[in-house]
Amino acid sequence: MNKIYIGSLPQDVTQVSLKEVFNAYNIELSNIVVNQKGFAFADCKDAASVDRAIEHMNGYMFNGKEMSVEHSVPRGSKSKKIQVRNIPSHLNWEELDKLLAEYGAVDNCEQVSTDSDTATVKVTYSTKAEAQAAIRDLDGKSVEGSTLRVTLLPDPADTTRPPRQGRFVNGGNFNTPFNQQFTRPKTVPELPTRMLVPSQYVGAIIGSKGETIRAITAKTRARIDVHRKDNPGATEKAITINGTPEACGAAVAAILDVVRKEDHDARMAAGTWNDDEVPLKILAHNSLIGRLIGREGRNLKAIQEKVACDDVKCKIAISNSMADMHQCNVERTIAIYGESCKCAEAEVLLMEKLRSCYENDMMAAYQQQQQYPGLHQLNMFPGLQGGYGPPMRDPMYNMPNYMNGPYRAQPGFSQEQRALQSETCTLYIPAEAVGAMIGSKGAHIRNISRIANASIKIVPPEDGDDDKQRRVMIMGNPEGQWKSQFCIFDKLKQEGFFNGDDERLTSEMTIPATIVGRVIGKGGNNVRELQRLTSSEVVIPRQSETEGMEEVPVKIVGHFFAIQSAQRRIRELLSKAKEAEKQKVVHTLYSILMSWHRIPDHENSEEDETIMMTSVGEDDTTAHLLREDASVVHRRELITNINNMSLRRRLREGMRTRPSLSTLSKRAKEERKYKYSLVSVLVIGICLILMVNIGLGYRKCESTNEEMYHPPKIHKLKQCIDSATGLPFPWQNYRLPTNLLPEDYHIFLHPNLTLQKYTAQVAINFSADKTTDYVILHSRGHTFKRVLNQGQNYQIVLDFYGNLTFSLGGFYLSKYKRNNGKEVVIGTTQFESLDARAAFPCFDEPAFKANFSLSMVREPSFKTLFNMPIESTNDYEGGLKIDNFGSTVKMSTYLVAFIVSDFQNVSNVTAGGVEVSIYSSPDKISETEFALKMACDVLDAYENLFNIPFPLPKMDLVAVPDFAAGAMENWGLVTYRETALLYNPATSSIKDQEWVATVIAHELSHQWFGNLVTMEWWNDLWLNEGFASYMEYYGVDMVHPKWKFFADFSATTVTAAMTQDSSQFTHALSFPVTDSRKVDEMFDSISYNKGASIIMMLEDFIGDEFFDGVRDYLMKHAYGNAENQDLVAAVVARDTDNNGDIQAMINAWTTLAGVPIVKVTLKDNKVSVEQSRFMYPDGSQNLPETGLWHIPLTYVTNISPQKATRKLLTQKSSSFDVPKVEWIKFNHNRVGYYRVAYDKGMWNMLINQLSQDHEVFSASDRVSLISDAFVAARVGNLNYQDAFRFASYLQSEKDYAPLILATSHLGYIDEMLKVGLKEEQRRMYEKYVTYIFTPLYYELAWKNKTSLSRMQLKLQSTIVSLMCSYKYEPCLTTAYAKFRNWKENNVLIEAEYMTTVFQSAIHHNLVEDWDVMWNAFVNTTDALLSNKLLSSIGMTTNLQKIIFLQEEMLKGENIRSQSASSLIVSLTSNMVGGSLTWRFVKQHWDEIVKLHPVASFAMRSIVHHCLTTILDEGEIVGAEAFFKSKGIDDMQYVKRTLEKVRINIHWFKQHASVIGKWLKQNENSWHSDRP
Ligand SMILES: [Zn+2]
Repeated sequence: MNKIYIGSLPQDVTQVSLKEVFNAYNIELSNIVVNQKGFAFADCKDAASVDRAIEHMNGYMFNGKEMSVEHSVPRGSKSKKIQVRNIPSHLNWEELDKLLAEYGAVDNCEQVSTDSDTATVKVTYSTKAEAQAAIRDLDGKSVEGSTLRVTLLPDPADTTRPPRQGRFVNGGNFNTPFNQQFTRPKTVPELPTRMLVPSQYVGAIIGSKGETIRAITAKTRARIDVHRKDNPGATEKAITINGTPEACGAAVAAILDVVRKEDHDARMAAGTWNDDEVPLKILAHNSLIGRLIGREGRNLKAIQEKVACDDVKCKIAISNSMADMHQCNVERTIAIYGESCKCAEAEVLLMEKLRSCYENDMMAAYQQQQQYPGLHQLNMFPGLQGGYGPPMRDPMYNMPNYMNGPYRAQPGFSQEQRALQSETCTLYIPAEAVGAMIGSKGAHIRNISRIANASIKIVPPEDGDDDKQRRVMIMGNPEGQWKSQFCIFDKLKQEGFFNGDDERLTSEMTIPATIVGRVIGKGGNNVRELQRLTSSEVVIPRQSETEGMEEVPVKIVGHFFAIQSAQRRIRELLSKAKEAEKQKVVHTLYSILMSWHRIPDHENSEEDETIMMTSVGEDDTTAHLLREDASVVHRRELITNINNMSLRRRLREGMRTRPSLSTLSKRAKEERKYKYSLVSVLVIGICLILMVNIGLGYRKCESTNEEMYHPPKIHKLKQCIDSATGLPFPWQNYRLPTNLLPEDYHIFLHPNLTLQKYTAQVAINFSADKTTDYVILHSRGHTFKRVLNQGQNYQIVLDFYGNLTFSLGGFYLSKYKRNNGKEVVIGTTQFESLDARAAFPCFDEPAFKANFSLSMVREPSFKTLFNMPIESTNDYEGGLKIDNFGSTVKMSTYLVAFIVSDFQNVSNVTAGGVEVSIYSSPDKISETEFALKMACDVLDAYENLFNIPFPLPKMDLVAVPDFAAGAMENWGLVTYRETALLYNPATSSIKDQEWVATVIAHELSHQWFGNLVTMEWWNDLWLNEGFASYMEYYGVDMVHPKWKFFADFSATTVTAAMTQDSSQFTHALSFPVTDSRKVDEMFDSISYNKGASIIMMLEDFIGDEFFDGVRDYLMKHAYGNAENQDLVAAVVARDTDNNGDIQAMINAWTTLAGVPIVKVTLKDNKVSVEQSRFMYPDGSQNLPETGLWHIPLTYVTNISPQKATRKLLTQKSSSFDVPKVEWIKFNHNRVGYYRVAYDKGMWNMLINQLSQDHEVFSASDRVSLISDAFVAARVGNLNYQDAFRFASYLQSEKDYAPLILATSHLGYIDEMLKVGLKEEQRRMYEKYVTYIFTPLYYELAWKNKTSLSRMQLKLQSTIVSLMCSYKYEPCLTTAYAKFRNWKENNVLIEAEYMTTVFQSAIHHNLVEDWDVMWNAFVNTTDALLSNKLLSSIGMTTNLQKIIFLQEEMLKGENIRSQSASSLIVSLTSNMVGGSLTWRFVKQHWDEIVKLHPVASFAMRSIVHHCLTTILDEGEIVGAEAFFKSKGIDDMQYVKRTLEKVRINIHWFKQHASVIGKWLKQNENSWHSDRP
């Protein structure tokens, strides 16, 4: 009965009106009984209509009354069951449980339906009163924005509902096996009888025109499907029979009769008849066979006995499992010999048993589902995945065909997930840990199961089991295995079940007996290799011991990560073995799919089969999908693009000329005024031609042009056809043609921040340099087909609109929270390198310089900013305002910027008369003071230094809440991350302050290097960034000489440059750039840090003339573009001293990739030097020598330790005499960009000196020695004992730069021991490092700020952070005390310690602390605090929190996308987060790449950090394959990262055990007590 109760009805309601109201919603009512008291009962067609009625009509306003619609519950019902609807889908089960539990004990809660954002559950309470209380309270309650609707459900005991259909209905999850907790019910298919018949008799079974089979169907009422097309050429065919057991039995008997009769006739005719009748063959799934046979064959015997009577025998035989396994059959054959009626009888009994086993499995699955929501119950059944079918350990799951069958329809079952199929692993845990593992009321195990999406069962002890241990069986995919095993491991660790450092687990994995040999390998080679690579102990039974077994347990003992590594390798072996068998499986697979999912009507079966067979062509499907995707991209481009274009002739004013060199200074000042007053050019154009090709057509080509945001791979545009004209696209090069030159742009913008779109117009005036018949510019690559004559001037006017998103590129949105909680959205831009075209159509290459002006519409309460100041503001329609800005000087498109916001500003005027303003969100305006002063000072300093005034009237610096890079040097409107511009003494440390100063100095130097003189093309990006990276030190040093900022240059900038440059996949400073991704990749350590290092070296070598030359270069190319050679020429022209071949020298340093190493040997007062390119072993591949560097060698000796002797090394090798010395040190102050390799004797001399008095060497020389010593150790030129002997001097080191470099080198060893799972060694190593730094710790740590110098303050935070990270107990204790004081008493943490203090809490590992930090993170508006919190909470080892953070990162609500890469860096700081995060990144690659382009800095950092937690060759191969699948395996950074992993692996093999031994020998001599 599908009766509903309708309440709260208006008085005048009638049956008819009620019926009509419901009809309007397509719900048919019948048997309507209206009661005058205002309620009614009615019947619905079916249960679905009832649900619909409640869904739509409950709460419906009917003649002024809010109608209620509920299930009809008989009066006095004792129902304890309610239905809760409108539950927000994102609410998790725990929260729901909690909510429901408020009203009493919940006996059962099952999911019944879900739509896009709400779900419905049925809840059974233990009493009626509880159910009613829940209804009273919950109905109408708002939960996370959704209003719950709760109704009482009829109790089965007091209704006349028919019993449920089918054998049972489960509430399980068939549709979305992964990651979805709310699911729709579906009936489990019954187990049909599957019969095998000789192929040659299939025709007879079907009969002429299907006559025979129809007759059998009619007689027996069974549904019969003959799979005649399966397994072409096979001698037997399968028949699937559905129906009641009796019907199936009868059908089997009838078919058997047909077969036997045919067989009899055939053999009689052939004269081979011998009384042996064809047996009845039944198929049964492998997983059921064991139970069918029963212990010692009891069940089978019983059936045989039952069937047999008198002397009529019946014999049942089951096929050999090994043979079946070999053929990858998942079904075994049961052959029944005897009379037809006996055979049929036996079949009924066999099937009865099989069905009951199957049902049990399904029931168990169902219950498990209830217990562990979110789990696909079929995952647990190796044999029952997807209803039935192959066990998951079988090769089928790799079959491309599998999904193209009926299961294609399942949403959310992606390719990737399919590759991760279920398997069973066993973990042994101490018996006494069982209670903790289960948790109260199963909470813990349930939680694990939910997190891991796996089924977990603690197996009851069986006879013969070790009573100290219990088995935990885990069924799930590899990801689920990883997560569940980790949770179990983690729990054991927390509960103290490991002794000390021995965190060893025992696990068991089962593998098919057929591949045991392969796993063991010849003479056990593979096992040994497996143990060596994974540091685990692997025990596999000998093949002789596994005789007759189908599956063999493989025992793996080791640390959690070691076990995982071993499991992964075994999985690989398995999949290889399966791959080999793949072909054989195809046919079996078809028959299984056919029988279980299609169940076609036999009359049409042939046709159905054909359809199915043809639809599985894998290539076809892929190709089709690709095409679909491609057209989506095109369509999207169309929509967001230009919708109207016209080409107008412009009435010109006079030509504007480039300012001449000699008058540049003067002109610059004038230009400022001139531009300021220049009225934007009036276009009195007549529309000459309506565009022939309006540009709306998209070009048909596979890989589209580079306007696609981040195209897969482009060197040269392919020949593309324009769909509008049918003509080939006229331009095939990546770079724009130079036949047209843009002169000025006027941009009109009308952004709507609420609707997130903008309408716009751009008018571009340009001249034709050559006669041409097309215009090509960047936007989405439209063409204007029209002959344009040489020497003429034209204007294009383009009306267009675009979308505003939070994309961090182009014209985009950013939002922030005011202190009062209000959220504000602003619009801002980021164009470098290729995103100006995303904002407006333009000639988007740096060499197409033009003047830009802007008119922008805004809300009256907002303000707009542009490169130039506002000239006028007018009223605009709709109460809005329009700001008109003056025209800029000639500049590149990537430097254009505009912002619309409610920001406030502080301003000042520089000595040179430039108005400098700092803009920030209103609540942060108090933090802008430092930046304002710094910006004014450094701008003045640069004007003096370059002797070229800043050419614009104003300079704005803006703190943007969402910003991808650190800052962007837009001319006159520099944008910054908040942390790079705002300084708040309460939350900013000294290093934070230095960062602000550095970034300001960097960006303002770009106003000359980059803005005034721009690289011609991105291949010379170093001309921008190298100079700015050098000037950032220079600028800070000029403004704050007391900071001694240059002292850090060598330890930071030079080190970073050499790190990338030691790779074979680095590049020269000047490097060809031929596609968009390469442009992005240029923004790397080479362009920035190596550029700066080389400038430093050249300046040191050439002297003052170097900067004279640079000044000339700026003058000469002002408002224009320059190439590498222009700089060389300018410097060479100034070199009057004849310092040597300067040109050759600069050329070598800017065009050779890599860093040289100079090998030095000293023998009898004679020094020999030899240069070569430095690389770490064994990134494999030895590159040929690329050329010779001109290395300005310098050295100091004990005779003159501060005065260097110079030599220029231009040859491969050279030698010279020195006086007798106690030591000699090369590369004085590490000004030269090269490494030094000393011989052993020289190292001994240097180490001796350091241990006696290290201050004989300058701090920079100590930096240089630290670098060279540790690098020598890494490559094997200095043994680690000596390196540690060298390091002992660090106990007295008190300078910042040497210390941070040393800690980074020491950190490498720690990192490797961590990644290599050498826990014991790592513990000793921690002891060693803390021992070295104990003296400094007690000298500085936690001391009052006021008593320390600036450098001591920097050292203080460094040493505290270092000691805590090496788990020095006194340090952690103090830090954690500060944390608690912050948490409990709201006491501010000193800025210098903030990160360390948060990390100490993470080390403490309390969920409560973590939650406090997360909440603080979510609620703070302080960018620095939020950074420090995020980088700490990401370091957690709590799996649940890691997963939570990953999800939050994708959501992007609480975690800004600009923070994604720093979050991932912290997530990879430990092995748990590391392994998990790399999986996560792979899984969500496409989503992440949407936010962070593949070649962006963020993505490079993400890939780098994920991969450096790998120390496993197999994992590299996997990573390589992954990058290949994403089409980025050819990118330099990808190659570099993989190389780095190989180098790490090599290092680990070479040095880990040596270091381990050394640590053990010396451990007892290290004490870290308070001195
Ligand atoms: Zn820069």
